[in-house]
Amino acid sequence: SPVAIVCVGMAGSGKTTFMQRINSHLHSKRDPPYVVNLDPAVRSVPFDSNIDIRDSVNYKEVMKQYNLGPNGGILTSLNLFSTKIDQILSLLEKRTAPPPEDAPAGTKQIKNILVDTPGQIEVFVWSASGDILLGSLASTFPTVIAYIIDTPRTASTSTFMSNMLYACSILYKTKLPMILVFNKTDVKDAEFAKEWMSDFETFQAALREEEETGSFGGMGGDGPGVGGGSGYMSSLLNSMSLMLEEFYSHLSVVGVSSMTGDGIDEFFEAVQEKKAEFERDYKPELERRR
Ligand code: GDP
Ligand code: MG
Repeated sequence: SPVAIVCVGMAGSGKTTFMQRINSHLHSKRDPPYVVNLDPAVRSVPFDSNIDIRDSVNYKEVMKQYNLGPNGGILTSLNLFSTKIDQILSLLEKRTAPPPEDAPAGTKQIKNILVDTPGQIEVFVWSASGDILLGSLASTFPTVIAYIIDTPRTASTSTFMSNMLYACSILYKTKLPMILVFNKTDVKDAEFAKEWMSDFETFQAALREEEETGSFGGMGGDGPGVGGGSGYMSSLLNSMSLMLEEFYSHLSVVGVSSMTGDGIDEFFEAVQEKKAEFERDYKPELERRR
């Protein structure tokens, strides 16, 4: 059966560019995916999508009609769209079914469903309609979350920690297998992140170094108090690291560049791993909860 890959991540992390990359990768392998765009506010989508939320809801009109700001507009658009989830699912099921016998020779079954989500991650992950969309998808197809990370902007220990905690909360919220995708490795190699995740000592060392050089504090290091080697922040970070070790052990981690295509093969290997994990561990759990 096909696997659904849902791309989530902070605005600007590169979800859409990553989607474009994996889409063209699959096309070049003569294995075209089925593509779904759930971002109602995106101006142009750089890939052909088979289902596009913008075909059924006009985000600008929704904002006007309901007198909403951008986030309210996205949320309401998702709500309106989620009322059509049954139609969407039956379409997905039909399109990803094995090709009929009278199909043209060489017609292949679709193996991947790619889903792009709104730039504002919280609107999707923490809303009822996001829940409905993800839940319905996961009850029909093996579903994995690709959490896209802006690697160059995650290079300080504190932004790294914040990002990992956020990923952890999404894992907990969605209860779906997750791949951490360290994107933009053409700008900054992801080796440091892999090292921090596999060896707590190296993270602690980086923490100490940033404290000593006064660069600690993540958001430019200008927060009062946090740069001065204060015991409170570092002891908090130390405790959180221990908790995160457990979290890390459940993840696949890949470094990619959506710009150059580097690491995309590894990403698809991770998808197969997580798909198997879904079928083994998550599906029975989902069925039990239903
Ligand atoms: P989204 O908001 O998560 O969908 O992010 P976008 O895909 O729109 O990308 C945000 C910005 O990051 C754009 O300017 C992209 O060109 C850039 N970007 C995305 N992926 C990469 C990458 O792998 N390398 C580099 N250098 N830039 C990237
Ligand atoms: Mg986008």
